[in-house]
Amino acid sequence: MEDEFRVLVVEDDRVSSTLLEKTLSRAGYNVTAVENGLKALELFAKGFYPIMLTDWVMPEMGGPELCQRIRESVTDVYVYIILLTARDSKEDIVAGLKAGADDYLTKPFHPAELIARLNTGKRIVSLERSLKKANEEIRLLSITDPLTGSYNRTYLTDRLPKELQRAIRYGHALSLILCDIDHFKKVNDTYGHLAGDEVLRVFAGRLRSSTRKDVDWVARFGGEEFLIVLPETLLDRATAVAERLRKGVSSYPVKISSGQDLHISASFGVAGFQPGIDQGEVTQEKLLGQADQLLYKAKEQGRNRVIGMRL
Ligand code: GH3
Ligand code: MG
Ligand code: MG
Ligand code: MG
Repeated sequence: MEDEFRVLVVEDDRVSSTLLEKTLSRAGYNVTAVENGLKALELFAKGFYPIMLTDWVMPEMGGPELCQRIRESVTDVYVYIILLTARDSKEDIVAGLKAGADDYLTKPFHPAELIARLNTGKRIVSLERSLKKANEEIRLLSITDPLTGSYNRTYLTDRLPKELQRAIRYGHALSLILCDIDHFKKVNDTYGHLAGDEVLRVFAGRLRSSTRKDVDWVARFGGEEFLIVLPETLLDRATAVAERLRKGVSSYPVKISSGQDLHISASFGVAGFQPGIDQGEVTQEKLLGQADQLLYKAKEQGRNRVIGMRL
């Protein structure tokens, strides 16, 4: 059974419907049959059928209207539609294609022709799927920092304002942790730039694996500086997270591929706001500025430390 290419047959004529089902099942398709357009739409509301074969004249809702409705409502994925018609007047065919059908077959259908046309549909559906996959891969590449796998600055610039707006709208807390590896220049100078890259990768990986999946997110802010965004998180909690990260980074050296253990540490600035308590306008600049200042302070006070403060 070809589950990826489920076929929906919409046909009010029992004999024709049974014949279609049999022919398609024999060719290996997973077939569902209903007897009018309304029922077809109900099924589309619950599931997806990449290929649909529909009769032209049916009670309740006919083929052309069904085509139109599917094209209007199913917009995120493509449905390949073949219209079945007893009529072969050119006007009807033109009307059917205009309504959104991809192809048509005249009844009584020829089994081999039906399968051949369905295979065309399969090709189109497969093509659409691979295009979508490629698009998704490109989208991911465009928002990811290639060295560390964290989100990049482009993503940060796009998402942070949305995160902030949502926090303000729903009255939720939001915290930012800005961190920077201490004396990283020395790592590069002593062990080489490639070793520095390895440290960056491991560091970013630790930040990601020590924060909540699907809620918190990590972006590379610049060189060896990363921003962790913690939605619905009060400052105290975020500061505790930063403290845990700091401890982890300084307690477990990074083993680089030459076999050496590099002892590193990082400094953290944590800024948070709590709606209803923190007054005044909260902006992305204010929050980032606060985190940056606190990070600077942590560096000044000797590095390998966390400083957090409410906005
Ligand atoms: P501090 O404790 O004050 O942060 O000192 P630092 O040496 O970490 O800070 P500084 O800003 O002087 O140096 C940052 C270094 O990070 C300099 C730059 O060459 C290095 N760097 C930035 N991006 C990369 C990268 O992608 N790979 C490597 N290997 N190094 C990088
Ligand atoms: Mg009919
Ligand atoms: Mg640094
Ligand atoms: Mg830096």
